[in-house]
Amino acid sequence: MDNESFRQAGHQLIDWIADFRQSVPDRPVLAQVKPGEVNANMPAMPDAPQSMQSLLQALDEVVVPGVTQVQHPMHYGWFPSNASLASVLGDIACSGMGTLGISWESCPALTEVEEVTCDWMRQLTGLSEEWQGTIHDTASTACLVGILLARERASALCKNAGGLQALESPLRVYTTEQAHSSVAKAVQVAGIGDSNLVMVDVDPVTHAMNPQALADCIRKDKAAGYVPACVVACVGSTAVTAFDPLEAIADICEPENIWLHVDAAMAGSAMLLPECRHLWQGVERSDSMSWNPHKWLGTILDCSLFYVRDTEHLQQVLSTNPSYLRGSTDGQVTQYRDWGVPLGRRFRAMKLWFHLALDGPDALRARLRRDLENARWLADQVEAHPDWEMLTPLTLQTLAIRHNPGGKLSGDALDKHTLRWVGEINESGAAFMSPSVLDGLWMVRVSVGVESTEREHLEKLWALLQQHAESSV
Ligand code: PLP
Repeated sequence: MDNESFRQAGHQLIDWIADFRQSVPDRPVLAQVKPGEVNANMPAMPDAPQSMQSLLQALDEVVVPGVTQVQHPMHYGWFPSNASLASVLGDIACSGMGTLGISWESCPALTEVEEVTCDWMRQLTGLSEEWQGTIHDTASTACLVGILLARERASALCKNAGGLQALESPLRVYTTEQAHSSVAKAVQVAGIGDSNLVMVDVDPVTHAMNPQALADCIRKDKAAGYVPACVVACVGSTAVTAFDPLEAIADICEPENIWLHVDAAMAGSAMLLPECRHLWQGVERSDSMSWNPHKWLGTILDCSLFYVRDTEHLQQVLSTNPSYLRGSTDGQVTQYRDWGVPLGRRFRAMKLWFHLALDGPDALRARLRRDLENARWLADQVEAHPDWEMLTPLTLQTLAIRHNPGGKLSGDALDKHTLRWVGEINESGAAFMSPSVLDGLWMVRVSVGVESTEREHLEKLWALLQQHAESSV
């Protein structure tokens, strides 16, 4: 494709994206395709160049029906995965420039714009100057890096010798059942092993880590010859947005030299609001932490911020220095390949920059506050209704709810009822929520925070909830 054809096709594509986004509220939220349907409807493998028009037609006819509309104002599933159009433009600029991030020299701007945008985000979330950041693809990768740093600190850089296999005492990692599954995966991938992941008890009401239980686990493990290496604390857990008490956890980690990684994947966005920062009080005492602008804040995937204080340790753990990547500026510049697992990196900071520059922090803060108020409104309706229950206190913008008319249902019958009404709503395409198990029983998460969700959509959802739950008893 030459430049002129690109210009024309690019204009067509932008028009197509704008029309598509406009059409989202009129589409079903959950993709209404059957397994294999998109595959079966794909056109034949191209054997000659086709027109942009025919490609866009295939997007309309084959791809769009297979898209669950997470930008829909009635999407309340998982966590918000906003993709602000300002950040989409930054993503297009990133791809369009065709940069290569393998060393500072391969694209000095990629490195330095990332340094600056990570620092802007640090300031916007009220973190101290002690932190330096980078952008990973996901919070899962960020958690893996945090656990690798912990592993290497606890084992005096075992990677430089026989690795974990040469250690006499197994390392231990502590988290709670409320932590995201990416923590367990990172523990497996880091070679620490499932049986060395300790699930610490939580507070029965808030589902946040119980620090006394953590201290007890560590004491018992030390007596049994284990080496406590890492605590992964949740700032906004996945099912119920629990906030582990960081200050109390840091009090336990510091004297034991245990690495504290904070997973704020979802709730990091809230820290743009000074009134929410008490929820991560103590974060300054952690060793690494990450959060996802690609969730509630709305910088399009993939954009996960990872901050660390001891950058020397970070580079000791992750640096490589092959001759073919050396340059005359080595030692004077940041080499982000030494900050994570992959070598080649995208210019991810571009979408964050475009997002901040074109939307502006004030508008972002106003939207986050709107969502908090909307979630509070829905929680008030649920709490005021005798047949509905809020299962945990509302901490941010995600509700954990259940319908139990007259309190008569329990066990299997309650589970069946919950899954029936939420399944009906989801399958209808009118709204989407994610059911999840809490303390052994199904409940429904309503995660408020799609860019286009206004109070009228919450009112519509509340009517739908009552209608479907009452009729499915
Ligand atoms: N941590 C928490 C608390 C999450 O809720 C999630 C995803 O929802 C993750 C980590 C994983 O995020 P990612 O998809 O960026 O790996």
